[in-house]
This record gives sequence, structure tokens and C-alpha cells, in this order.
Amino acid sequence: MRLTEIREATASISSQIQNAYVNFSQMTISVVAVESDVMRHGRRLTGYGFCSNGRYAQGGILRERLIPRIRAADEGSLMNDDGTNFAPSRIRNVMMNNEKPGGHGDRSVAVAALDMAVWDLVAKIADQALWRYLSDHYNGGNYDDRVMVYPGGGYYYPGKGLGQLRDEMLAYRDQGYKVLKMKIGGVPLTDDMKRIETVADLIGGADLAVDANGRFGLSTALAYGKAMGPLDLFWFEEPGDPLDFQLNSDLSAEYSGAIATGENLFSLQDARNLLRHGGMRPERDWIQLDPALSYGLTEYLDVVDMVEQMGWSRRRLIPHGGHQLALAMAAGLQLGGSESYPGVFQPFGGFADDVVIQDGLAEPGEHLGIGMEAKAEMFKEIQRLVG
Ligand code: MG
Repeated sequence: MRLTEIREATASISSQIQNAYVNFSQMTISVVAVESDVMRHGRRLTGYGFCSNGRYAQGGILRERLIPRIRAADEGSLMNDDGTNFAPSRIRNVMMNNEKPGGHGDRSVAVAALDMAVWDLVAKIADQALWRYLSDHYNGGNYDDRVMVYPGGGYYYPGKGLGQLRDEMLAYRDQGYKVLKMKIGGVPLTDDMKRIETVADLIGGADLAVDANGRFGLSTALAYGKAMGPLDLFWFEEPGDPLDFQLNSDLSAEYSGAIATGENLFSLQDARNLLRHGGMRPERDWIQLDPALSYGLTEYLDVVDMVEQMGWSRRRLIPHGGHQLALAMAAGLQLGGSESYPGVFQPFGGFADDVVIQDGLAEPGEHLGIGMEAKAEMFKEIQRLVG
């Protein structure tokens, strides 16, 4: 069993939306195909992967470092002990050969895209949906048949007023979502509070999460926390710079509502530092590491072990990214849930076409591997780029 080809390409996910920090008019992602010599129905089994939104495509790192290392590796060094399947952790180690520790940044994004394709391939070779494969091999056969999902929405875009924000949120409710998220921090506090209160009046504060995308300094984060406190929100996401653990800790001492953060932490070590130094409260707060930005599912399995060793429940982990990998992981590893992108970052955002959302819960479905073939518009684009 060997890998016969690895292809990568850059896909555009350009849109007019913006959050408190960036606009997405130039946003790209890397798409990867990992082809094997395993034949099924007359075709070579191939795994597909991509990186999450927000950090751009990583073709340079893929082409110049990661893919050549895998190509140069002994076949056996990429396999599990009994030679029945590829070993994602060994392939990750090959990719990371001669890479210094720390830093992470774009490298963790490139590794994550390739790692996603490897896991898709591994589950396909096992003839299983990835969530079932994870349940069988990493979770004692346990799984959730329905997963809490929430749409990451409420973006700013030119000319969008309160009426359109309200309509957007009602549309998510019509699609079956319960907890909804909106962006904050893109306009002054008094204007933002009108947006937040408009949505809280509509759906109730307990089902509303807000996301500042790391925009605030401590005094602004505290001011928002004070203003939003009476609304008893579902969570307050990324109040300050993702690496300012002291700010997070200072805010958590004042703000009694839930805080969620971690989508811009890219490694096990960064996540551990958040838990050590960020004042995060295990009974209340949420960790949002995105496997498709942070060295992949392979690293995430170690993150699950780490949080449990530090006295946290894996139910406090809700991956960022709104992609099918996160849904499969949440189901098979019994995490707290998954973000969802029903309307943004298309065609890559969101789940398989036949996934039904009801009461804020999604069933992962029985598609082979990650199930990208069951998301028609996205798979057409993947085929065009790396098929
Ligand atoms: Mg966020």
C-alpha cells in the first residue's frame, strides 16, 4: 500500500463579509488530494482535505517542504504496524521532520490541510464514515448521533442594517439552528449594543453567542462584558488578542458569563498555555481550536488527551471552522459541538447536502470518509482543482 500522488491547489473563498479584524475579499484556502494505490470500484482511493478559512492558502509550504518529505519517505514509514492502513501520526511526523518547535503560524495550516486528506483516505480504506472510524479507534465505540451546531454568522458587510441582521438570524432559525452567533467589535460599543440587543430580543440572550475576533484591549473587553452581562449570553468569543492570556484571565475575573476562544491557537502547546494562564473556567468556558488550522485531527487527538489530563471535559471543546471534519470529530469523539457555515465561505463552508439541522442538532450521516463527495458544489470545485 502506498501513496501514488499528492496534489494541491489554491481555491478562492472571496466574499464581501468582514469581522472586527479582517475582510474576506482576498481570502483563499489550500485544497489537497492524497491518492493511494488501493483500488475500490475500479478507481484509486483518494482522500481530500482543505484548510479552514482565515489564514489563506499555503501552497508554498505544501510544495516546497511537506509534500516532498512524504514523497521521499519509505513506504513502510507511513503505515500502521500491521500494514493495513496509513498511519496519520507517522505521516505527520514525516511532514514535521526538520521543523523547529514553536512559531506554528502558516505551517500548522499547511499540515492541517494535508492531514485532513490523510484521515479522509484512512477512513475510506477502512470503508467507514470518519466519525465511526474515530468512535471505534479512539473513543471505545461511543459516539453522538446528533451534534450541537451553531452558525457563525452576523458578519458586517457594506450597507447591512439591523433589519437585515434580524432577517439573517431568523433565516438560521428557519434552517433548524437554535444557538446563533454574530460578530461584534466592528462598530462602536453603543452601536454594537443595538445590534446585540436586537438579536437577543429576537431569540433570547441564552441562545446568542457574540464574537469579537480578538479586537479588544482589556478596557474595551471589560466595557463590552459589563454592557452584555445582563443579557446572559451563550458565550463571548475571542474578546482580546488570542495570545494575550493575561487579558483573558483578567476579563474572566470580572465577566461571569462564558468565554470562548482558541481558533487562533495552532498547537497543543498553545492550547495548554491557554488553560494554564488564560483564566479559563472548566465548568463554563469553551475551547475552539480548529483542527483544519492547527496541525489537523492528528494533533487534536493529543489536545483532547491534554484537556482531560488538565481536568477539563472534552465536551468543552467546540471546534471552529464550520466544516465536515469538525462535525465528524464532534460526533465520533463526543466533543461539545461544531461551528457551521450555512451561508458563508462557500462552497467549502457547512456540511453534506443531506445533513438536516433540527433543534440545533445535526446528524453526521453515513458518508464514506469525511463525506466531501456528498457536498456537491464543494466536491465539484475540489475535482476541478485537484481531482
Ligand atoms: Mg471566531
